[in-house]
Amino acid sequence: MATIIVGAGCFGASTAKFLKETEPDAEVVLLDQAPFPDPAAAAHDLNKIIRAEYDDPMYMKLALEAKEAWSRADPVVAPFFHKTGALWSITAARTQKLVDNYETILGPGKAPLEIMSLDKTRSRFPLLGSCRFEGGAEQCILSPEAGWADAAMALQAMIKSAVDSGVRYEVGTAEKLEFGPDGACTGVSTTDGRTFHAERIVLSSGAYTPWLLANSAPENRDLQAGNRMKAAAVLMCLFKVPQGDAGLNMFKNAPVIVHPYGDFPAECIPPGTSSGTDLAKCTHEFPYTRNIYNEATKQEISVPPLSHSDRMTWTRDLPDALKANSARVRDMFFGDSVQGMTPKLYRLCWDIATPDEDWIISPHPASKNLYVVAGGSFHGYKFLPIIGKYVVQMLHGKLSEELTRRWAWDREIVPITTPYTPRGDLRDVPGYED
Ligand SMILES: Cc1cc2nc3c(=O)[nH]c(=O)nc-3n(C[C@H](O)[C@H](O)[C@H](O)COP(=O)(O)OP(=O)(O)OC[C@H]3O[C@@H](n4cnc5c(N)ncnc54)[C@H](O)[C@@H]3O)c2cc1C
Repeated sequence: MATIIVGAGCFGASTAKFLKETEPDAEVVLLDQAPFPDPAAAAHDLNKIIRAEYDDPMYMKLALEAKEAWSRADPVVAPFFHKTGALWSITAARTQKLVDNYETILGPGKAPLEIMSLDKTRSRFPLLGSCRFEGGAEQCILSPEAGWADAAMALQAMIKSAVDSGVRYEVGTAEKLEFGPDGACTGVSTTDGRTFHAERIVLSSGAYTPWLLANSAPENRDLQAGNRMKAAAVLMCLFKVPQGDAGLNMFKNAPVIVHPYGDFPAECIPPGTSSGTDLAKCTHEFPYTRNIYNEATKQEISVPPLSHSDRMTWTRDLPDALKANSARVRDMFFGDSVQGMTPKLYRLCWDIATPDEDWIISPHPASKNLYVVAGGSFHGYKFLPIIGKYVVQMLHGKLSEELTRRWAWDREIVPITTPYTPRGDLRDVPGYED
């Protein structure tokens, strides 16, 4: 059976690898806008956090499975994992929730978490000596098993592994899905005039998914994303850290740091990637939509810039108002404790947010043979080594009842509010134009 997977980011790459493993004789085409790994993918990054701390036991279980793959089980991605530990500021109640989840999954007393006061954190990690931890954090937890991955390199390895086993990688931008007279999806056409026919069409086009669905069948509201998911961008900044005791030495053995509270909820991945041994990545947890009028459907849809690489990758070309937020994140974390951190590059990184932060891994009920694999909601990357297994189960109708329900296209959505809930629009940022 021929399958086309549109989008070779985290979800598409993993799907291609597992599908080819499960159906070695099947034709599997992986289509993306650029040769792999595509720098516009959210999964193409200097680094991403790998952790299992989830309030939701279902995701904790999946994340533990993924972490096992990152730590040792999967030779494709394991070389790219760095077990630095991760430190969270948190409330006591939420700490208890995580401990309970761990103990339910791993057994009593097995939660791999160290709990410490904010003051103890400041003295144990001198780089946080002046961190204010403002906005409601009561204590910190250190998860020694967590860490970060060289994101683009692991993505590349994943796609290469799929291609080596027979997946065909094609460069092209999907413009529209194609449908037969009965409404079933028959393939996808690209902006350069090609059409790929397939019996299964898997849409894993990340932040572009609602736009692509809208343009594919403007008259068919049932096909479109509606309020199920929204493209949103989060600002990251690479800070160059100078050598010396008040600079890089401060980051020696530093964990990933996450402070999801206050006016500047943020995270920092310490320097250490081979492509940036002196670069600390700070992310301001504040997703922006980019709502524009979709002519075909006569509605506003949030979508990244449509020219492929425009402002999707590392740049200095962002408004000062955004750059100032990165500086505030740096100052909030490190104050005077680390000196001389200068912003080198910025990036608005795009993902798709769902209102409940559950993904959509589902047959599309409005079109036979069409499957949607999207909605990473700013936490999908860590599942790169395993998510394709579950997508294949979905394609084969073998996904568990719970996962089928949680990831369904049509599900009862109970919205949640987290630092990764979109709450601004780029068009309202002074100086933002495109
Ligand atoms: C700022 C930021 C920080 C994050 N940090 C973390 C983290 O620390 N840990 C974590 O686990 N997760 C993290 N995530 C989330 C994670 O990166 C995403 O959830 C995940 O990458 C989503 O995978 P995806 O395959 O849906 O999308 P992507 O990885 O974005 O891939 C989509 C691909 O589809 C391609 N595509 C789009 N449209 C078309 C088209 N029309 N034709 C052909 N190809 C197309 C794109 O070019 C891209 O290559 C973060 C995300 C962001 C934005």
